[in-house]
Amino acid sequence: MDERPVLLCMPTSKPAVVPSKVFQCETCGVDVWASPASLIAAGAKVRILCIPCGAVEIEKTPPSEWDLQGPTEAQLREITN
Ligand SMILES: [Zn+2]
Repeated sequence: MDERPVLLCMPTSKPAVVPSKVFQCETCGVDVWASPASLIAAGAKVRILCIPCGAVEIEKTPPSEWDLQGPTEAQLREITN
């Protein structure tokens, strides 16, 4: 199983909530937004996934193995400014 952290990203078909860069979903290749603070929070080895592909990954993982990371202060600043 892939142990790298997953960053769930909104597709670029929706407007970006905060100034963000465009990346591609690792699974389906769709363009998604990833904000600078999210990329820092997720770290270098992150897997960038769109919401639907991320949901599939979550379904495959037993809840006992979930390791959810809440928003960092930098991420909260992005969405509250
Ligand atoms: Zn995808």
